[in-house]
Amino acid sequence: MRLPKFEYIEPKSLKEAVKNLSADPSGTYLLAGGTDLLVNMKFGVITPARIIHLKSIPKLSYIIEEKEAIRIGVLTSLRDLYTSPLIQEKFSILSHAAREVGAYAHQVMGTVGGNLCQGNRCRFYNQSPFWRSVRPPCFKAGGEICHVIKKPRECHSTYCGDLAPALIAMGARVKVLGPQGERIFPLKRLYSFNGKKPLSLRKGEIIKEVIVPQSSGKGVYLKWRWRGSIEFPIVSLALYIEKEDNKISLARVVFSGVGEGPVEASGIEKMLIGKTLDDSIIDSLSREVPQTVSPMRTSIYSPAYKRKMAGILLREGLDRLKWIN
Ligand SMILES: Cc1cc2nc3c(=O)[nH]c(=O)nc-3n(C[C@H](O)[C@H](O)[C@H](O)COP(=O)(O)OP(=O)(O)OC[C@H]3O[C@@H](n4cnc5c(N)ncnc54)[C@H](O)[C@@H]3O)c2cc1C
Ligand code: SF4
Repeated sequence: MRLPKFEYIEPKSLKEAVKNLSADPSGTYLLAGGTDLLVNMKFGVITPARIIHLKSIPKLSYIIEEKEAIRIGVLTSLRDLYTSPLIQEKFSILSHAAREVGAYAHQVMGTVGGNLCQGNRCRFYNQSPFWRSVRPPCFKAGGEICHVIKKPRECHSTYCGDLAPALIAMGARVKVLGPQGERIFPLKRLYSFNGKKPLSLRKGEIIKEVIVPQSSGKGVYLKWRWRGSIEFPIVSLALYIEKEDNKISLARVVFSGVGEGPVEASGIEKMLIGKTLDDSIIDSLSREVPQTVSPMRTSIYSPAYKRKMAGILLREGLDRLKWIN
């Protein structure tokens, strides 16, 4: 499959990139590692008139530790993230998650920013033009009807990124640069939960940095997928807890693969507070999970199966964290 024709821009600074993006936000796409964007372009589901290659901008790949937080440059590759001794030692949940993305080539080329901003997925959409030609285009592809819910003007394509759940569980924030200057906001607010336009970035905005607070807790990232090598999550779980006197004082439970964005299971988080992790608590909480996630039929796996796997992942995650003080 060949790429369609487009205008190619190599800005020298983020400011210049913002200026170019603001000039035509709907027809312009940012290119980082290209492992998501270029595939979608070859499939013909994205046809940008202009591409801005962010990798021409220097100094956007770094991991810097400060007293209160670490700052991760948006062009840091997933491989640089999970091989960083600092990340492995103090933020191991991030290194688990980055290591789970695709295959080695995706981890070398793929960036933190591209991973957070990758497109939502659907079995009717992420297909070759030949595959899609047997049906009229769905709503996201420019038609009227969603082939999943059979209703007009709605899209429930699924967010399947690995890094966002782990970063949200760590309480990460993002710094973006736009025509109005910089702003910082919690990463979870980056996701609009609208399958057709899954990000809440304003016109012309580009992510510059991810800020992860220093923490005293522990986390795990667990991914259930079809193939052990290259595969998006069917369901994945990021679980982060802090304990005081062996009781949970803070809990964050975030799933990928089940909703239009990374889904925070706030009901389960509340139930975890004040608990000492023992087998009976783990058992009852894992049984609650299926009620808190409601996956769409956007993959070949049924919502019932995904709900069941979400409960199993939570049980496994809590079991692993049971022994950590
Ligand atoms: C076979 C295959 C398997 C894969 N498996 C996984 C997987 O298991 N888990 C997973 O998470 N991903 C997976 N991916 C998707 C992709 O490889 C990764 O998400 C990767 O990290 C994307 O990063 P990138 O830098 O290549 O993004 P790009 O493709 O360059 O960009 C992705 C999107 O983000 C936007 N973007 C990039 N940078 C910015 C920025 N700074 N600000 C705003 N928007 C930006 C782009 O415009 C584009 O829309 C897979 C892809 C393929 C082809
Ligand atoms: S959820 Fe519906 S509108 Fe969205 S990509 Fe899938 S078929 Fe298309």
